[in-house]
Amino acid sequence: MKIAVVGTGYVGLVTGTCLAETGNDVICVDVNASKVEKMQNGEVPIYEPGLDLLFHRNIEQGRLHFTTDLASAIKEAQIIFMALPTPPGGDGAADLSYILGAAGDISKIITDYKVIVNKSTVPVGTADKVSAVFAQNTNVQVDVVSNPEFLREGVAVDDFMKPDRVVIGTKSERAKKLMSELYGPYVRQGNPILFMDERSSELTKYAANSFLATKITFMNEVANLCELVGADVDAVRRGIGSDERIGKRFLFPGIGYGGSCFPKDVQALVMAANETAYDFQILKSVMEVNERQKTIIVDKMLKYYKNDLQGKHFALWGLAFKPETDDIREAPALYIIKSLVAHGATVTVFDPEAVENVRNVIGDQVTYAENMYDALENADALLIATEWSVFRNPDFDKIDNLLKSKVIFDGRNLYDLQKMIDLGYYYNSVGRKKIT
Ligand code: NAD
Repeated sequence: MKIAVVGTGYVGLVTGTCLAETGNDVICVDVNASKVEKMQNGEVPIYEPGLDLLFHRNIEQGRLHFTTDLASAIKEAQIIFMALPTPPGGDGAADLSYILGAAGDISKIITDYKVIVNKSTVPVGTADKVSAVFAQNTNVQVDVVSNPEFLREGVAVDDFMKPDRVVIGTKSERAKKLMSELYGPYVRQGNPILFMDERSSELTKYAANSFLATKITFMNEVANLCELVGADVDAVRRGIGSDERIGKRFLFPGIGYGGSCFPKDVQALVMAANETAYDFQILKSVMEVNERQKTIIVDKMLKYYKNDLQGKHFALWGLAFKPETDDIREAPALYIIKSLVAHGATVTVFDPEAVENVRNVIGDQVTYAENMYDALENADALLIATEWSVFRNPDFDKIDNLLKSKVIFDGRNLYDLQKMIDLGYYYNSVGRKKIT
C-alpha cells in the first residue's frame, strides 16, 4: 500500500518505518526541515532501540522516504497517518491546532478518496472535528479513522511490530477493510484488531494511559507509607502482584511518572471530563500525588543535610524519563535538578542517551560528565533518577574512591539493601528501609 505519515517524531517515525518493514511504500512528512534533512542523509533523529536497523534497511530497499513537501507526499497515498503533537493548551486540555491545521492543509490538496488516520492522542470528538474540516474544504470523500498508538518508548519497535492489540475507530466498511489489510501482518500471532466507533477508540487511549498512571501512583503512595510504617515495598509489591487481577507489571515505585504522555494525557482527560461537568476525582488525586513524588528525593536530601544544600555538589545518574530512550519530556530528573539548583547545590549529570537533549533545554545549569564514573568526582552524594541497566551493577570500589562520602539517594531501587549494608553506605531508596 502507499502510505503517508504526517509528523515524524517518536510515533510517526516508528510507525512509518515499521509500516515500510511489511512491504508498504511509505513517505514521512515533517515541517522540521533539519530533521528531514538528517533522515534523508540516513541519520535516525531519535534514540529508539532496534529502529536504526529497520530504518536503514527500508531506506536502502526504497520503501521509506522523507520530505517536507506535504503535497507530493500525500498525492499517491491511500492512507494518510497523522502523528502530530497534541500538547497541553493553556488550560491543560489537548491543543488540537496541529491536527486541525494539518487536516486543513491536507483537505485542500487531495483529489481522490483517502483514509485519514489519527495516531495522535486526542480527546473524544476529534474525529468528528477533523471530518468537519474536510467537509468544509473539499468534496472529495474521506474516511477519518481513530487509531491510537500504544507503543512505549524504549521498546517502540517491538510494540509496533507485535502489538497487544490494534484499536481502530471507524464506522466506514471501506476504511475498515483497508486498515485490516494494513495491520494484518502485525497481528498474525492472534492478538486482536478491535474495531469500534471513533469516540470509544479516542477514549480508549486516554483511559489506558490514565489507568497506568494511576497504577504507578498508587504504588508510589504504598511505598511512601511503607517507609513510615517500616514495611518493605518490594515484599508488598510481590505480595499483591501475584494476584492475577493486579498483575506483576507497572508496580515498581519511584520518583513519579514523567514522559510526553502520562502527565499530559491524565490532565487532558480531567479537562475533557470537566467539559461535561464530570469531576474525575481519582485522576485529580493522581496528578497531585505525582507532583509531590517528583521531588520526594530532594525532600529526603533536605532532611539528611539538615535543610542546607547550599554549596553541596551532587552526581546525578539518569536524565531520560525512563531507560532506553533519549526523551526527557517531563522527566523527574529535570525537576530534581531545578530544585537542587534552587537550594544552592551544584550538579554533575550523566545519561547514556539523553545528555544532548538536556543540554538543549537547561544548558550550563549543570555540568555534563562523559561517563557515569566521571560524574562522581568530589560529589557529596550520588542520586539515581533513571533505571538504565548500566547503573544496576556498578563498580562500587570506583564509586567509593570518587564520592566524597558514601551516600546514595536512589529513586529507582536499583540496589540490594543487604549489599548496601555490607558496603557501608548511607542508602536511601523508595519504600524500603533506610540504610544508615
Ligand atoms: P513528537 O513531538 O516526537 O513528534 C511530532 C512531530 O510532528 C515533530 O517531528 C514535529 O516537527 C512534527 N510536526 C509538527 N507539526 C507538523 C505539521 N504540520 N506537519 C508535519 N509535521 C509536523 O511527538 P510524538 O511523541 O511522536 O507524539 C505524537 C502523538 O502521539 C501525540 O499525540 C502523543 O501523545 C501520541 N503518542 C505518543 C507516544 C510516545 O511514546 N511518544 C505514544 C503513543 C501516543
